[in-house]
Parts: sequence; C-alpha cells; structure tokens
Amino acid sequence: MMLAENFKIVTAQLVAACEKVGREPSSVSLLPVSKTFSAEVVAQAAQLGYRRFGENKAQELKQKAQELADLHLSWVIIGHLQTNKAKEVAKYADEIQSLDRIELAVALDKRLQQEGRALDALIQVKTSTEESKTGMLPEEVPTFLDALKGFDTLRIKGFMTIAENSTNSQVVRECFRQVRELSEKMRQQTGLPLPVLSMGMSGDFELAIAEGATEVRIGSAIFGARHYPPSA
Ligand SMILES: *Cc1c(COP(=O)(O)O)cnc(C)c1O
Repeated sequence: MMLAENFKIVTAQLVAACEKVGREPSSVSLLPVSKTFSAEVVAQAAQLGYRRFGENKAQELKQKAQELADLHLSWVIIGHLQTNKAKEVAKYADEIQSLDRIELAVALDKRLQQEGRALDALIQVKTSTEESKTGMLPEEVPTFLDALKGFDTLRIKGFMTIAENSTNSQVVRECFRQVRELSEKMRQQTGLPLPVLSMGMSGDFELAIAEGATEVRIGSAIFGARHYPPSA
C-alpha cells in the first residue's frame, strides 16, 4: 500500500481546495477513516504522524484501540451507534461524530460517568434523502442542543453530515450548505462556539471545503478500496 504517497496526494488536494476558495489550509483537519483496515495499517499511518482515526463500529474501534494501546492514539466513532455499544465507546473513544438521539446521549453519559471520562461530540445531521443515511433532521437540532445542556460528559463541538451520494455537485453542495447554515444559526441562538463542521469524504471533500468544512473524513482515498467481510 502506498500509504505515504496517498496521504501526500490527499493533503495536496485538501490544500488546493482551500486555496481555491480563499481558506487557510490549517483551518481544515484531515480525519483518516481506518474502518475495515487492520491495526497494522493504522500503525503505519501513525508512523507518518497521524494520531486520530475514524471508525464506524464500536467493536472494531475497541479491538484496534486495545491492540495499539501503546501508541496512545485518539479514536473517533463516526458510525451509527446502538445504545448497547455505549460502554465500548465510553471506554475507548475520544470523540463521537454520530450523536443523533437523546437515548444515545443518555446511554453514553451513564457509561462516561462510570469511566470518569468525557467525549467531544458532534451532532450528526441528516441532509440526504436516502433512507439508509442516519442522523437527526435539521429542525430537530435546536431542541436536542437544549436537552444536551444537562450532560457535562458530552462536549458538543459542532456538527457532522454525510451528503447525498450523487453525481450532481449542486445536490451534494446543498447538503453541506444546509449544515453550515444550521451551525451559524445555532451559534447565534445558543451562544455556544460550535466550531467544528465535519463534512466531506473521499468523493466530495472539495465541495465540503468550499461550504465551510473544518474537518474532512477520508477513507478510501488514503487506505484504498474497502473489502467488507461477508458478514458486514
Ligand atoms: C466510511 C466513512 C467515511 C469515509 O468514506 P470514504 O468515501 O472512504 O472516504 C467518512 N464518513 C463516514 C461517516 C464513513 O462511514
């Protein structure tokens, strides 16, 4: 695997996308998404200087976190989470970007209190019309943010979205724009800083950067095509 080369290419594309719209490249962070790739591959990426990794399953995150405990990496859960997985996430993750309902906040809070830990958290907003995409509807966000005030184990930093999987760049951009506008509105209404906008993946991160993403989540462009086990 050409890991170093791929990181170099993606970073150059990220910088170019920033420059194209007059943004500072340092205003956008890169979250490598290592789901389905082995702990060995993550260790290679860590050698290149990357410290945070995105995973979409609690079990897989736990396994890699345990296997690579010596490296003191930071794990970010980015996939839909069942409440019965809150324990693993509370123990091994540093951040959740897929916070999408109050039951999950309650389950995480309980486990985090037991662990004496806290997580950074992004609210996942559903902007795509695809049934399979998870997240909360934009109109539900104000009430949710209000309810989250009671949880000091969850530090709400902003929003995450997965755009529509479309070849029409206008449609994709509109998904990102919706979340940027929502975040601006929520900042005004709540007075919270909410600085993070996690938007954009391998296929659409340039559009996300143009719409204000502060973090892009990149899997296949760095690690290559994923081969899911038959059971997944
Ligand atoms: C897998 C995944 C990514 C990365 O997708 P690529 O297209 O491989 O870059 C980003 N975000 C989420 C939520 C994912 O599940």
